[in-house]
Amino acid sequence: MTLAQKTLTNRLDELRGAAPTSRHNARTISALTANPGCARRALLDAAAVDKTVIAQELGFPPQFGQSPFAITRGNSFEAMVKAHGCAELLRLLREELGLSIPEVGYHDLATVGDNATNSIRYQRTKQLLGQALDSGQGTLFDHPMLRLEIAGATAYLEPDVVALQIGGKFYVVEIKSFAIVDGQADPAQVASAAQQSAVYVLAMRELLRELGYSPDAVAHESILVAARDFTNRPVAAKLDLRKQLAVIGRQLSRLTSIDSLLDLVPAGASFTPGDGLSDTVSAIPSRYAPECMSSCELAFACRSEARTQGSVDTLGRGVCDDLGGIDNLDTVLALAEGTLEPGPEHADIAEMLRQAQALRLEVAR
Ligand code: SF4
Repeated sequence: MTLAQKTLTNRLDELRGAAPTSRHNARTISALTANPGCARRALLDAAAVDKTVIAQELGFPPQFGQSPFAITRGNSFEAMVKAHGCAELLRLLREELGLSIPEVGYHDLATVGDNATNSIRYQRTKQLLGQALDSGQGTLFDHPMLRLEIAGATAYLEPDVVALQIGGKFYVVEIKSFAIVDGQADPAQVASAAQQSAVYVLAMRELLRELGYSPDAVAHESILVAARDFTNRPVAAKLDLRKQLAVIGRQLSRLTSIDSLLDLVPAGASFTPGDGLSDTVSAIPSRYAPECMSSCELAFACRSEARTQGSVDTLGRGVCDDLGGIDNLDTVLALAEGTLEPGPEHADIAEMLRQAQALRLEVAR
């Protein structure tokens, strides 16, 4: 670890304080890229803080997430597909996707002896994937430990996926318990699975770059295993990830460096639960958007803050764009009602608002 990395790690440890930890995963990273302008989320995630606890401490417990029933069902479905060295998975790959997999080597990378630290597991993953590419042997790698640079800080990812190697090419295999009925699945769930797989593909490509291999040795297609027609039987399908890879890769490269975000935090402040927490959170700029409601644990807290501030962000990005930089709801209403004279730069928008207000009054009459 370089001195700069050590300093960054220490600063993030200080910022986390005594807050409970939670690790990055593909869902948190794809959510981060959906709202790349939010410094608050970036810092909470970089410091590996459990945002659910922070939201509860602020008095706004998150109201989304999987039900215990769905989690149990997902775990038992995955265990069934991976049982006996992924026997069922191999059947699917061979029979349903027609992949020619002559010999199978299965490695579970969940632990390395008694040592399960992230860095040791990452080194072991790197070693085995490298050997597989050198020798062409080794087919299935369960629970690989991967990592990605997120705004200059290293995030370890422990995917519940299997890395499949066939003929010198790796595929990410993701197992989800939602249903595929007559070849169709819920588009939102498929989109979410595709985004998560894309994060893992990017992380695997980074690992291969470190090994000196071409990142193209990780396929831009992933293999989704889901439940067939609401049964407990699995079905496999390929997902083309080229769009998700381009979007997430671009957004990750645009994230502001964590170093400069740390400068926004008041000296000595931390996310330790207690009296000072609310002040620390408020001091870090956020960028609330309605999409936060489905992707970030702090959504209720940030929405309440944005409403109190009269921010137009609560209305969504489309409306914000239409308002051309006017960021306060009182200003918008005053322009609509004609009680505020617009500057030349907002004359068109004020005219549009006055027309909308007149229309609204006409309809309400
Ligand atoms: S809910 Fe708050 S912290 Fe989370 S992404 Fe949205 S603005 Fe940022």
